[in-house]
Amino acid sequence: MTGAELAIHGCSMLNPDFSITTDATIRIGQGRILEITANSQEPGSIPAGTALDGHGLLALPGLIDAHTHSAQQLLRGSVVDELPMIWARILVPFESALTPEDVYASARLFIIENLKAGITTFAEAGGPHMQATARAAVEMGIRACISPSTMDLGDFVPPAMKMDASQAVRVTEQLYQEFNGAGNDRIHIWFGIRQLMTSSPELLRAVAARSKEMKTGVHTHLAEHLDEVSFCLRTYHKRPAEVFDSFGMLGPDLLCAHSVRLADREIVLMRERGANPVHCPRSNLGSHGFSKTPLMLALGMSIGLATDGASGTRLDLFEQMRLLKSAVQGRYGLEINDPLALPAIETLRMATSGGANAVRLGGEIGTLEVGKNADLILLDIDQPHISPTANLPQTIVMAAGPSDVKHVIVDGRLVLKNREFLEIDEEAIRREAAAALQRVSRRAGLALPSPYLGR
Ligand SMILES: [Zn+2]
Repeated sequence: MTGAELAIHGCSMLNPDFSITTDATIRIGQGRILEITANSQEPGSIPAGTALDGHGLLALPGLIDAHTHSAQQLLRGSVVDELPMIWARILVPFESALTPEDVYASARLFIIENLKAGITTFAEAGGPHMQATARAAVEMGIRACISPSTMDLGDFVPPAMKMDASQAVRVTEQLYQEFNGAGNDRIHIWFGIRQLMTSSPELLRAVAARSKEMKTGVHTHLAEHLDEVSFCLRTYHKRPAEVFDSFGMLGPDLLCAHSVRLADREIVLMRERGANPVHCPRSNLGSHGFSKTPLMLALGMSIGLATDGASGTRLDLFEQMRLLKSAVQGRYGLEINDPLALPAIETLRMATSGGANAVRLGGEIGTLEVGKNADLILLDIDQPHISPTANLPQTIVMAAGPSDVKHVIVDGRLVLKNREFLEIDEEAIRREAAAALQRVSRRAGLALPSPYLGR
C-alpha cells in the first residue's frame, strides 16, 4: 500500500452525522483521505508521512462558498450604505473597467481571504476575464467551479458587457477547454446565466442545450429581486423557477443562488426537479428578502450557503451560518414559539455537504470520509469562546470564526499552516491588490474615500 503523505494525530473530528470523534488520526495521500482511526483503536496499517499535531484542534470538512464574486473583491468599501441602483451606478462601471490584470489581482486577494477563513471551494457566479480567476485558483491550490458572465438583454446592461447566445457559448467553451479539470481536477468550468432579466430566450436555450451536451452545471441568480419576479410574470407569464423549468434547466445541475422571492409552489417544483437553492443571508437581508428555509428543510431539500462576494462583507461562512439562523428564527420561529425554525447544525450542513451538493461534488467533498478528497480545515478549539462546551458542533456554529482556522488542507496539500501560507506570498498579493484598486477606481470613475485618494 502506498504510504500517507500527511497524517494528523490526536485531533477531534466532525463525522458525517455531525457527531464528534476524539483522538482521531487522519491519514492523507494522493489528494484523498486514506484512513481515519481513533487512537484507542488498533494503529492504522498505512505508513505515516509528514505528521501534524492535532491536539486541541477540530477537523472539519473545508467550507464551501456556493455563490461568490471573485472579481468584486476590489469593490470593498464602495457599496455599503449606498442608495439604489448600486448595480447600475456602481457595479456596472466597476466591472466594465476591469482588465485581466485587475481580475487576477482581485482573485488572488479573494483566494487568500477564502483560505484563511477555511473556505476550500468556491462557486464563482461569473464576472469578466474569468481566465484570470481560473489561473489564480490553479496556482494557489483552492478548489473552484467557475462560470463566465454572459448577458444579452436589459437596458441597464451596457453594450460592452453583452454578448449574443453563440458568443456566450463560445466564451464558456474556451474557458472550459483551457481550465476544466486543471489543477488535478480542482477546477470545473460551468455555464452562467447571470439572471433571467439579462438573458434572452435564445441565450437560455443555447446554455440549456450546450451545458447538457458538455455535462456541466449552470450557475444562476434565482428569485433574488421582486423586479425579477415581475419581469418573469410580464415576459413569460411564469414565476422565475417556472421559467427555468420551461427551458428544461431546473434540476440538479442548476445552482440557484439566493432563491428568496419564491412562491411555495416554486419550492415544491425545485424539490421535484432536484434543483439546488443556495442562500446568501447577508446579501438577502440587505435588500432582497427572507429565504423560506424552514419549508425547504421540511421538504428535505439540500441547501448551500454563500457570501455573495466581499463587496459588502467579509468572506466568512461562520458569520453567514449565524446570520441565517437568527434571520430565520426572527422571521418564522418567533411568532409560533419554535426555537427549531433553523437548527444550528443545519447551517453547518449547508456550509459543508449542502454546498458540495450544490457544486455537484457531493460524492467528493463536504464530509470527512475515507476515499473522499482531502479538503479539510483544523480549528483551534482550545480557546475560551469554544471550550469547554457540552455540544461542540453547535458551539462551532454559534461562536467560531475565520481566525480560529489554524491549518487548511486542499486536495491533500497543506496550504495554510499555523495561519501562514506555505507557498503564497500574502504581503505581495495585498500590495498588488491595493495598486489594482487605485487603477480600477480611477478608470471606473468611482469615488474612493480617503486614505485611498491620492495614494
Ligand atoms: Zn451574486
